[in-house]
Amino acid sequence: MEQEKKLFKEVNEGYTMHEAIEEAKRCLHCKIPQCKKGCPISHDIPDWIHELSMGNFGNAMHIINEKSNLPAVCGRVCPHEKQCEGHCVLGKKGQEIHVGKLERFLADFDGNMGLIREKLQPKTRGRVAVIGSGPAGLTIAGDLSRQGFNVEIFEMESEPGGVLMFGIPEYRLPKDIVRREIKKMEELGVIIHCNTTIGKDYTVDDLFAQGFDAIFMGTGTGRPQKLQIPGGDIKGVRQAIWFLRRVSLYNEGNLERKEVVIEKGDRCFVIGCGNTAMDAARTATRMGAESVNVVYRRTINEMSALRSEYDDAVKEGVGFIWESNIVEIHSNDEGKMTEVVIEDKEGNRRVEKADYVLMALGSAPASRIVSTTKGIDVDDRGYVITREKPYGMTTRQGVFAGGDVVNRPSTVVLAMRDAKMVAEGIAQYVDAVKLLEAINGATE
Ligand code: FAD
Repeated sequence: MEQEKKLFKEVNEGYTMHEAIEEAKRCLHCKIPQCKKGCPISHDIPDWIHELSMGNFGNAMHIINEKSNLPAVCGRVCPHEKQCEGHCVLGKKGQEIHVGKLERFLADFDGNMGLIREKLQPKTRGRVAVIGSGPAGLTIAGDLSRQGFNVEIFEMESEPGGVLMFGIPEYRLPKDIVRREIKKMEELGVIIHCNTTIGKDYTVDDLFAQGFDAIFMGTGTGRPQKLQIPGGDIKGVRQAIWFLRRVSLYNEGNLERKEVVIEKGDRCFVIGCGNTAMDAARTATRMGAESVNVVYRRTINEMSALRSEYDDAVKEGVGFIWESNIVEIHSNDEGKMTEVVIEDKEGNRRVEKADYVLMALGSAPASRIVSTTKGIDVDDRGYVITREKPYGMTTRQGVFAGGDVVNRPSTVVLAMRDAKMVAEGIAQYVDAVKLLEAINGATE
């Protein structure tokens, strides 16, 4: 196990202090910063880089904290090449500032040194229940508790973090980093109840009965798509996200090795070509697979995975089969997978030996909450319908939603951006309800 665990050590090195300051000094501190335009949460990037370049790490962190609750996460997993770094004017010469690594350096330095001690607000404005503790739920919790709300998170998993904890693998996002970010929320006064599934242990109506003024659903997209082909139900066909969750639990010592599929020598195929597919493929190689091939129906230019993720996968030995589909899966008399049939765009078929097929075909929201309470409307694919005013409120008064469960699977920072706007909607709603109650109370 120790040997296997070593393979999950973080792959990208962070900056030393010297390197970070040298890199920060290169920033031009543009008057109209393009990097800020490229950032979905409009981080004041040149401002905190300027503080960093002068060695004022605490000031830099204060500026970051105004916009983000998860800088150590964003510094590692945001698609910087498409956002801040992709917009940096120095990029024209191929010398863009490495904003992500600088953010990571600062967040880690702050986390290790405990630079920032936030002043706690008295919690007088109301009680908010947050369902789900992914980037959306954590952002709501952080923003609202800073504004004086009592926030309690209800999470069905054994640990908070959502995809950050059970999806993105350790070698890209160490779990201790996620835990450290979550601890910051707890220090703000946020209470987290794990192993609590809303829709099973409590309903939304139960939460209102417990006295919550508003409820936020940040429940993500936990229902994976099935493979509708002959042999698609063979035992060796597994959901990529299921596999990643199991490996994560195993790496934390919470599962036996035999409970995690893919052993030394297995031949593995991954269907799909987004973030989840790259993570599943690279994780399968770390678990000892003899060969891992990603099968994608489109071209390399159409994959949704980041180019850097693809490059890393290739470096680690993952193969790619473009413009092709797995059209059949075969098994032996004992039901064990033996081979897959791959068809290219010309209709040519070939048979390859196979032990596992991991499906990374995308996912949709589960219906656990909307089916156990009345009045929360969803669209035909199960995504929760919300309104503009107050921002993020569902068709049920007092129930809000945001992140992937509303906007479809996207990215950490987009879930955070949406949640920041929903936090404002919740604050407006609760303040308005309390004001009306006060007026009605005074006139009765
Ligand atoms: P989630 O993170 O899915 O969190 C939802 C939470 O709700 C979960 O903790 C779940 O357990 C909980 N929950 C659900 N139902 C209930 C219930 N009934 N009761 C209680 N709790 C419940 N984005 C990037 O920006 N960069 C990346 O590198 C990247 N890599 C990815 C890799 C993988 C494998 C995957 C799957 C996604 C990746 N993404 C990446 C996308 C990103 O992680 C998501 O867009 C983001 O996590 C969505 O946040 P969320 O809070 O809406 O949902």
